[in-house]
Amino acid sequence: MSTRTHKITLIAGDGIGPEVSAATVSILEAAGKQTGCTFDWHRYDAGADAFAKTGEYIPKALYNSIEDTRVALKGPVTTPIGGGFSSINVTLRKKFDLYSNFRPVKSLPGLKTKFPDIDMVIFRENTEDLYSGVEVMINPDLAQSFKIITTKGSTRIAQSAFDYAKKHNRKKVHAIHKANIMKLSDGLFLRCCKFVADKFPEITYAEHIVDNTCMQLVMNPWQYDIILTENLYGDILSDLCSGLIGGLGLVPGANLGTECAIFEAVHGSAPDIAGQDKANPTALLQSAVLMLHHIDETDTADNVQTALEKVYAEGKTLTRDVGGQSGTKAFAEAVIAAL
Ligand code: ATP
Repeated sequence: MSTRTHKITLIAGDGIGPEVSAATVSILEAAGKQTGCTFDWHRYDAGADAFAKTGEYIPKALYNSIEDTRVALKGPVTTPIGGGFSSINVTLRKKFDLYSNFRPVKSLPGLKTKFPDIDMVIFRENTEDLYSGVEVMINPDLAQSFKIITTKGSTRIAQSAFDYAKKHNRKKVHAIHKANIMKLSDGLFLRCCKFVADKFPEITYAEHIVDNTCMQLVMNPWQYDIILTENLYGDILSDLCSGLIGGLGLVPGANLGTECAIFEAVHGSAPDIAGQDKANPTALLQSAVLMLHHIDETDTADNVQTALEKVYAEGKTLTRDVGGQSGTKAFAEAVIAAL
């Protein structure tokens, strides 16, 4: 068996980041041994940890590493509320123009939730909208945030969603918006979605208003196949959808651009459970599975996913967030044993 080595930038993150990253790395290395692939991890801090060591929130060496490896696996990095530094996640996505945030939301076997058999995908525009970070204080009592929506940003995320739908035989794309109120910005977003949709007559296209979508998602989530939306709505709907399948510990994500890709879970740094061996590494592990597909390690990806699903189907070694009794490390060991 030939050995393939993949150079990957690894940002363990903070909060539960180091625990879920260590678990994920141990599973990937065990899986790689079986399929002949090894990982050359280039490890970097980001955020407050990096600032304490280097004086920079995102060290230049980290930027250089991502430019070099073009693939990063990233744990959560805390963004302070209010003052402090701007979001590391948002900064990295903008710096590398990772315009497509891809988040598959799929039920895991054996998990009892109110909504069985969910299988949908969220395509969230990742660089614009109210996350552009353009804010001004007009006067001490008036703050203003700018919502930036462009033809380029909207068209390319719509194109990603429809290309994926066609490739993976998905039937429906729903564009989610609030164009009844934000007529210009969300109106432009919808026009771009419709322009792309017209090129895919075999895929059903519909438009839903975001507040109605929240209600629809908790009444009949099965009506959705692909959700295509702007940055802020996508962030909120991702957390809602992760709740449908068992919580934030499960849902993976990929930030994709034309040059680089960063794979990270939907969840944040979960400071309430950090350092207690309680975090569920499934979301980062499933993000790593997306990464393995991205680097053409399909067999390794399938083996990891199969082992993970086996552990869920058995239901004996699950973490507390999904009703189990086990810790992060024991869960990772169970997945390795199931490989
Ligand atoms: P952010 O805005 O930074 O994305 P968030 O609002 O999504 O963060 P989290 O930090 O992800 O918030 O945590 C929300 C809740 O979900 C917390 O109670 C946390 O403990 C729980 N949670 C998040 N991730 C996990 C995980 N991997 N395992 C178990 N529980 C988790």
